[in-house]
Amino acid sequence: MSLVARSAALSDIGLHRKTNEDAYVVAPPLFAVCDGMGGAQAGEVASGLAAAALEAGVGEGLTLLEAAESANAAVYARAEEDTAHTGMGTTLTAVVLEGDTGHFAHIGDSRAYLLRDGELQQLSQDHSLVGEMVRDGRLTEEEAAVHPHRSILSRALGTEPLARIDEFEVDLQSGDVLLLCSDGLSGPSSATAIQKALARDDPADAAARLIAEARKHGGPDNITAVVLRFHDAPAADEDAEQDPELDPDEAPTVITPAADVPAGAAAAAAVDEPVQDAVAEAPAEPDHAPALEPPPSRAAGRRLGCLALLLALLVVVALAAALTLSTVFFVGVEDGRLAVYSGLPIEVGPLHLHAVYRRSARPYSTLQPLERRLVDARSLHSKAGVMTLAATLGMWP
Ligand code: CA
Repeated sequence: MSLVARSAALSDIGLHRKTNEDAYVVAPPLFAVCDGMGGAQAGEVASGLAAAALEAGVGEGLTLLEAAESANAAVYARAEEDTAHTGMGTTLTAVVLEGDTGHFAHIGDSRAYLLRDGELQQLSQDHSLVGEMVRDGRLTEEEAAVHPHRSILSRALGTEPLARIDEFEVDLQSGDVLLLCSDGLSGPSSATAIQKALARDDPADAAARLIAEARKHGGPDNITAVVLRFHDAPAADEDAEQDPELDPDEAPTVITPAADVPAGAAAAAAVDEPVQDAVAEAPAEPDHAPALEPPPSRAAGRRLGCLALLLALLVVVALAAALTLSTVFFVGVEDGRLAVYSGLPIEVGPLHLHAVYRRSARPYSTLQPLERRLVDARSLHSKAGVMTLAATLGMWP
């Protein structure tokens, strides 16, 4: 007896984002979720491009892994050719059904779950900083779920010429329910809530419940769910219309279109964002240096111009320093050891717009590659944020 699947997919912008950077594919036997990243709509481009390339690749007869690799190449090439899209990338969690086997490809922190006999199992591993810390035993699942740096990915599609994509297979059984979802779903929702929603008989009902659950817990990010419920194919003469064979030409798929829910209160952004925004505006614009009167002579004019520019620069520097020195923080390196700095990570000649706030004994050379990336980024945080990062980096054991 062969298996058939009923499926449903839903994507929701959530309550705090202005765009939906998630994408999904429901093109039996292929199902996938992509969660894009990158500023200025680049995330939307990355996830959309990856989803389209994946579907085209599988449609052309590529294996799922080959199609995922071609999606990586497509996103990487677009990011290279257009500076507005530099550094964009996406997660990808996909399954191709073949008989009773699910062939999976996975990269990033979107997830694949299996509900079997009432038990929920996460099939995919999160390729994220906190995911690796959980596997190392340095964080619990519960701590990871609320960690301020939980969105930092250790692997993504489209950010490197060659992506390291996980591949695995699962033998499926009648009664199994598969969920592919973005972190906007798995982050805010408990495993118990996901389990309860997936237990519902109708996949469309389950997907709607899952979206509602993530929104109930704040909906901080875009939320996407692809749900597949498997059962034995009925005998040929009964109910063939309701339970067709799993065949691309007779897709047994209940597709619910992406919900177009208006963005809710946009004020409460992610933890570090207000600080980043404030900093982007902190240095006054050099364009606004005072315009000069027509010069009496070329040499005097040039001298006057230099003086005005210098003055303007000094004012800018002093203003920026005064505004930000005590309110923003970052982790940097002093004499080979980690330190928390207050101020901006900017050096203008001998002038440094920051000061050491607290020193750590941990040498930079002992950091893992992922931890180095966090330090090298010199990104700005609130005081509470930088202390969490410092703790993550084990700066004061
Ligand atoms: Ca996300």
